[in-house]
Order: sequence, then C-alpha cells, then structure tokens
Amino acid sequence: MSAQLIDGKKIARDIQQDIAKKVAAMTQQGNPTPGLAVILIGDNPASQIYVAHKQKACEQVGFYSEKIMLSHDTKEEKLLSIIDDLNKNPKIHGILVQLPLPAHINNQTIIERISPLKDVDGFHPYNLGRLAQGNPVLRPCTPYGCLKLIESTDIILKGKDAVIVGSSMIVGRPMALELLIAKCTVTVCHSQTQHLADKIKKADILIVGTGKPELIKGAWIKEGAVVIDVGINRLADGSLKGDVEFETAKERASFITPVPGGVGPMTIAMLLSNTLQAATLNKGLFE
Ligand code: NDP
Repeated sequence: MSAQLIDGKKIARDIQQDIAKKVAAMTQQGNPTPGLAVILIGDNPASQIYVAHKQKACEQVGFYSEKIMLSHDTKEEKLLSIIDDLNKNPKIHGILVQLPLPAHINNQTIIERISPLKDVDGFHPYNLGRLAQGNPVLRPCTPYGCLKLIESTDIILKGKDAVIVGSSMIVGRPMALELLIAKCTVTVCHSQTQHLADKIKKADILIVGTGKPELIKGAWIKEGAVVIDVGINRLADGSLKGDVEFETAKERASFITPVPGGVGPMTIAMLLSNTLQAATLNKGLFE
C-alpha cells in the first residue's frame, strides 16, 4: 500500500479562505474587525519565523494585528502589564505569547494572565478544563488542526485505537482529550513509555509530536493506519524532517501527513479560526 498524502497546505488554505469571507461579511455588517496581538520575547530564529507566518496569515484573512517585540531580558512584571493592557484593549480579540519564553519568565503565570476569552492558543486552564469536560471553547491550535486533518480523510473515529507519542501541554495532552471526545480509545506515550513499538503497532490513528527526527520507524506502522506527524526537526544539512520515518511509513499507512506541509499550516489556520471565534465570543454572539 502507498498512503494518500494529507495535504495540510490545501486544507489550511480552504479554512483561511472561509475565514476571510466571514471576516468580510462581519465587517460589512458593522462588526469590529477581529484583532490578534502576538508577543515575541527574545530573538529565537524559529519563533521569529512562526510569528512572521502568523502575521502574514492575519493580513490575508483581513484581521487587524499587532506584533509586540520585547528584548530577551524583559521582566515578567512588564510582560504581565502588557497582557493586562491587551486584555482591556477592545481592538484585540486574541492574544498569543510565542513560546518558548526565556527561563526567568514563568510560563504558567503568563498563560493564566491572558483572559480566557482572548486565549487563542487554548492553553489557559479554563480552556483546557473545558476541553477535558468535553465541552471545548477555544481549543489548542495544533491538536485541533490534527483533528481536522484526520476528519479530512473521512475515516470514522468512533471506536478506533489512537496512539499519541508525546504528552506536552501543547500537543499530546490536548490531542488525547480531542480524540477521547471523538470516542477513540487513546494511549498516550512519552519518554518513559516501555515497548513503544508494540504500542504503535496497534494504532489505527497515530499522532507523533516528540521533536525527535524519525523516532518512529516505518516498520512499526499498522497496515492502513492514519499517521499525523507533528514533529518539525531541522537537520544539520538544513533539511526538515518529521518524527516519523516518512518513506517507509507511507508504504504501510493509508493516509499520512508530509513534513513540511502537513500539520504546520493547520496550526496557523486554527489560530485564525480561534481568533474569529474569540471576536464573536467577545461580542456575545457565541455561546
Ligand atoms: P516537548 O519537548 O514539549 O514534548 C515532547 C514530548 O515527546 C514529551 O512528552 C516527551 O516525553 C516525548 N518524548 C521525547 N522523546 C521521546 C521518546 N524517545 N519516546 C517517546 N516520547 C518521547 O515538545 P512539543 O510538544 O513542544 O513539540 C514536539 C514536536 O512537535 C517538536 O518537533 C515541535 O517542533 C513540533 N511542533 C510542531 C507544531 C506544528 O505546528 N507543526 C506545533 C507544536 C510543536 P516526556 O514528557 O516524558 O519528556
């Protein structure tokens, strides 16, 4: 079998076009333009690229956007006071603080300071709690994007065995909650998991986000599995690799995402979708 590629770029583009139409209709009716503020601290090159992509995507769909660049030594109190201002700013419906933060800033304190109504990353305990209750509002972008990619294959999720490798707050944990809501039987693996290959061999749906290039061997993939590779790893020669051994995995999977061009574009599309939802939520139009 040779797997069908899941074209994250195209699916993300379709979502963005739909958002652009909704924004045009909203603003024509006199509603405010959805606004996103992105805060970047320090000069991490990867973070700079992500923020640039997010800003460009905002322009493409007609959002208002603000980029706030802060030096690496910015104090936590300063960042908190900027967030307080953005929480009150009526032009801003979504606030994103680009992670990772410098070591002297406490991630949790920052995440909890963002109003849950403007938490377009979906990391605030309120939004993660709503997801855990099976009643999500603003959902973490990457897992939500992965879910949309799986849904694009038209496979029925109910009753499937899903294995997630990686249990971080931004990928694995919320992914597990999404797939539980979809009625999969979910196994979450991490660095201390024993017999990883045996677990993966049972996965109808496999989602990998570890940051370890080609950790998952093609021979471990169950015939016909849907494989979603979240990993983005830049190798010494400058090329990008996922966490799954793509060439061999695609011979066994039924559907597989490429890296790049799979999950990455969807993360941005879901950020835009969350910002639009937050703008509607703020107006009291969304329950
Ligand atoms: P983290 O480092 O926060 O988490 C990595 C997870 O993988 C941890 O749960 C860790 O386990 C687990 N892990 C590490 N090594 C192994 C191993 N040998 N076997 C099993 N599990 C292992 O990373 P992130 O979640 O932030 O990111 C993961 C990857 O996804 C990265 O490549 C990142 O670039 C990419 N990413 C891509 C996005 C996109 O839009 N496409 C968005 C976000 C991330 P433990 O908890 O025990 O340490």
